[in-house]
Amino acid sequence: MNSSSNAKTILFWISIVFLGTMLWKLVSANGTPAQGDEPSYNEFIARVDADDIKEVTLYLSPNSYELTGEYVRPANRRFHLTVPKEVVPDLLRQLREKSVLVKAKEARSGDWVLILLNAAPLILLVGFCLFLMRQMRSRGAQALATQRRGVRFGLGYDLHRLDTGRPFIVGGVEIPFDKGPLGHSDGDVLAHAICDAVLGAAGAGDIGTLFPDTDPQWKGVSSLIFLEQLAKVLQDRKQSIGYIDAVVITEKPKLGPHFAAMKATLAKALKIKPEQISLKAKTNEGVDAIGRGEAIAAHVIATLVSA
Ligand SMILES: [Zn+2]
Repeated sequence: MNSSSNAKTILFWISIVFLGTMLWKLVSANGTPAQGDEPSYNEFIARVDADDIKEVTLYLSPNSYELTGEYVRPANRRFHLTVPKEVVPDLLRQLREKSVLVKAKEARSGDWVLILLNAAPLILLVGFCLFLMRQMRSRGAQALATQRRGVRFGLGYDLHRLDTGRPFIVGGVEIPFDKGPLGHSDGDVLAHAICDAVLGAAGAGDIGTLFPDTDPQWKGVSSLIFLEQLAKVLQDRKQSIGYIDAVVITEKPKLGPHFAAMKATLAKALKIKPEQISLKAKTNEGVDAIGRGEAIAAHVIATLVSA
């Protein structure tokens, strides 16, 4: 459980305790008159005259008053009666004359407006708690979005043998040369390494998984098709390419003059801008298979950001 969830749980229980307290106060603070004997008004006055009553509680309602209390004789016996408003001045005078202690309370009204007014602090509190929870939830969502916005990195590498009679295609651009990469597709090392770097950053496997060289549909195709397919993979994951940096290693021919065309071609296939691609060329200083002109390789780093 993260700190946001903890805070939410604490807030939830605080709200529940407040809610319970307020409800309890709402129900119990004003109370309802206790039930008991129900003497008529005249019987009640007679009891007052006879000094059988020393204390009454008067519940104030909009249209009538209710009286409760205990008789002195018989002891511990409660009474309850409702009196019309008109008799209240006379009643109070008689109670005063007999030195009966009068406690006044506001009776809980059946009037929904009054109930709502009574409940206003409770409603405000619940509203405030809901508002706080919503704020926290939206902060959590923002944090998640920020987390998702975190840049992801992917590394791609590819190498193809060079053979005579094959077109020399790098970055989707054919360059005049007497050799070209061998491969199931057009053997474009740069496109393949970009594909792997992007798939790696997306956590979506690699080029061999998505476009197996045993599948005849990819035989002899332009590798730009693989790059075009990446758009759907990224769309499903709500990601997009941030930047691509590549190094192509080949002894010959010179690649630099073709970089602008390669960037434009790759960017179009990837549905990004050419400025989001950096290309560099290296030789292998005559060392190894690449140095002998027998192979071409590419290293690529790609970054993905939240779409
Ligand atoms: Zn390849």
